[in-house]
Amino acid sequence: MAEKLVCRDCQCAEGELHEIFCTKELCPFCYGQLASCSCIHTVLELTPEETKVVDEYVDDFKEPLKSIVARWKAALETKGRIRFGEDLRILKITG
Ligand SMILES: [Zn+2]
Ligand SMILES: [Zn+2]
Repeated sequence: MAEKLVCRDCQCAEGELHEIFCTKELCPFCYGQLASCSCIHTVLELTPEETKVVDEYVDDFKEPLKSIVARWKAALETKGRIRFGEDLRILKITG
């Protein structure tokens, strides 16, 4: 029996979505690591004040960071988040 792949970081199974911002999740905009790419800046067209808030990333349970992260999550959902398993295929394609 083939063993099902499980994400080593967030424990999701193949074909499922990672925990949001799992270090293994790929960004659907740049195919880079979602947790560290800078698409949040370009996709959300952050103002200089918002950029500062995101760079400092103090506490995403508090405003103003909370609503910026909520906008980012909505943008990711709209674009279509990359499931575990799909990311492996994409990485093979893009090298
Ligand atoms: Zn994961
Ligand atoms: Zn990105």
